[in-house]
Amino acid sequence: MSAEILLKNVRLIDGLREQPIERAAVLIRGDRIAAVETGEMAAPAGAQIVDLGGKTVTPGLIDTHVHTVTIGDEGLKLFMANGITSVRDCGAKLELVLAIKEALESGRKFGPRLYFCGPLLDGAQSSLPGASGALMTQNVPSREAIPAIVKPILDAGADSLKLYFGLTADLGEAIIRYADGRVPVTGHLGYMRASEAVKAGINGLEHISPSVFNDVCPAHLRFGPGTSMAGRQFMERLRAGWLGADFSAPEARALIDAMARRQVAMGTTMNINWLFRVGYEGAARDRDRKYIVPKILSGRRETAQAQGKLSNPDWDLYFSRLDQAIIDQERRALEKQQEFCRRLFEAGGLVVGGTDAAINYPPPGFSLMRELELLAEAIGAMNAIRAVTSKAAIALRKQDDIGAVAPGRFADLVVIDSDPLADITRMRNISAVFKGGVRYDPESVLLELPVNPNYPS
Ligand SMILES: [Zn+2]
Repeated sequence: MSAEILLKNVRLIDGLREQPIERAAVLIRGDRIAAVETGEMAAPAGAQIVDLGGKTVTPGLIDTHVHTVTIGDEGLKLFMANGITSVRDCGAKLELVLAIKEALESGRKFGPRLYFCGPLLDGAQSSLPGASGALMTQNVPSREAIPAIVKPILDAGADSLKLYFGLTADLGEAIIRYADGRVPVTGHLGYMRASEAVKAGINGLEHISPSVFNDVCPAHLRFGPGTSMAGRQFMERLRAGWLGADFSAPEARALIDAMARRQVAMGTTMNINWLFRVGYEGAARDRDRKYIVPKILSGRRETAQAQGKLSNPDWDLYFSRLDQAIIDQERRALEKQQEFCRRLFEAGGLVVGGTDAAINYPPPGFSLMRELELLAEAIGAMNAIRAVTSKAAIALRKQDDIGAVAPGRFADLVVIDSDPLADITRMRNISAVFKGGVRYDPESVLLELPVNPNYPS
């Protein structure tokens, strides 16, 4: 008989219902949830009983879009400290992500359950140059090349496939057809339009900002072969496009309807622009800055040094400052993305909150807390929580295992000290995290982590 734990006196947000259960009991048996009941539950003989005194329990959170190869062991720990018990790696060379997965499953590394896409399937030319490109991308030069590239990824046990920016519609469609529904196909699109991908049967889109751009933004700004993602020009184009986005235009409405009808997951990743919400001063003071991971810090230090910008005391956050007028525009562009998210949700669409945890700010784990805040503004706190639990599990096609506090699923749980439905920022008040029935203390995980030397003490 495996170990049993009865959690009693629980305020349960199970990930499925629209309302919490004010008084519930959850029975954990081994690494799975055995039973969930409203009110009292008789404890089985020998079960450990934990009275949570009315604290809130949610399913373990899911980040559907991370890059484990860029964040190091510290990044993996930050997920757990923030209640994220499952992540999907959304782009990494196969051998690199397989090594991390093996280390997590054998217990040599501490972190969440890891699902993965394998490499970013890009067009004939790489649209992500430099070091990140070398770690993450795989070029697909032609239709004929697809089986030799994609079969090994599926054979290695990939949970999803990821289409990337430089892929043409023709190649994207051919990969979706080759995958034939065996795993969900998602995409950070650029040249291929979201409407084309949805029609071809794609299952998910990553990042509201670039992936739906060609269907909702003014025609003269749209991406096409030759558009580079590098540099300021791309940022300017994205910003201008989003400021000019018109969701009542026929193409935008058709996209939203088609995504809702086919339940194409929209992985939002809006937190990437969090800095524009709080400004440079806000980010410099922000407590999450303390945990920018060493692997990312050292990369940024090298870049700052090469550009002669180490004298800027905030090089860990940004290299050069944009004008306040531009920051204001970026903030409005982000609001438009939140509006897209709300419209898709109201049309019955599948909104899922990934983060792209790979970049410096906000750091891994904390980035999902920011995503939750942006989602809650758009679709409400309960729907935001579902977007990172049960809805995320559906997008990953892992709803038998994760995403809800329900019998049969893994005993992945977050215990929260106060009510996150009243104020979503309380999702940070985590007193315990369970992964597979094993309890962790988030405070002690954080205490083991190195502190960013740039963080003002
Ligand atoms: Zn990404």
